[in-house]
Amino acid sequence: MSRYSRQEKLFGMEGQKKLSAATVTVAGCGGLGTYLSLLLTSAGVGKIRLVDGGKPSETDLNRQFFYTGAKGFKADILSEKLREVNPDVEIETICRFIEEDNAPETIGKCDVIADCLDTVRSRLVINKYAVLNNIPLAHGGIDGFYGQATFMIPGRTPCLRCILRGTDERVPDSIAPIVSLIASVQASDIVKFMTGSGETTAGKLFTVFAGTNDYSTVAISPDPKCPVCGRIQ
Ligand SMILES: [Zn+2]
Repeated sequence: MSRYSRQEKLFGMEGQKKLSAATVTVAGCGGLGTYLSLLLTSAGVGKIRLVDGGKPSETDLNRQFFYTGAKGFKADILSEKLREVNPDVEIETICRFIEEDNAPETIGKCDVIADCLDTVRSRLVINKYAVLNNIPLAHGGIDGFYGQATFMIPGRTPCLRCILRGTDERVPDSIAPIVSLIASVQASDIVKFMTGSGETTAGKLFTVFAGTNDYSTVAISPDPKCPVCGRIQ
């Protein structure tokens, strides 16, 4: 029995091979990135590129459990933990923050980008790169008891610029159960997309407000005037 035998029943040996051949760039190694990369490493994704220029701080530890007591860049610390979880997965670390002018070197070539960032500004940078390079993007975001996720496929679904509103004027509240829930939706979308099994949240927005146990999935439409993906420029 292989370590993947329980999940191979879901998408077959062929699906597992596709997963093992996939490269995923995880943009951001905070709460979402910690959980998501752990889930993808366990699932046997072939290569994971961890991108984050930050170092752990005390206020991260209520949800970023791998960083307790460690020094250095988050991406490097996380990569060591992930190698212990599954040594078959190739882990690359890029200890830099993603900016528009370094996106080709930091995000790089990959099959999917996981949006595990925490600002609108940085999300719009990876969104633009994803649309221009035709790379699917698994978006996740949280604020307190609220969380949302959608799987963006360039040319088929709205891009993040079509749906993201708001500013970066305040740091969102954050609690581990909601972070891990949204990271799980993102990781589930990536696994389903790579193996061709089930349905992703493409064209839909999954939302949760755990304060009142409200979970929903609503259809979303591209903005024809979107400056990134719109047909009317
Ligand atoms: Zn758009």
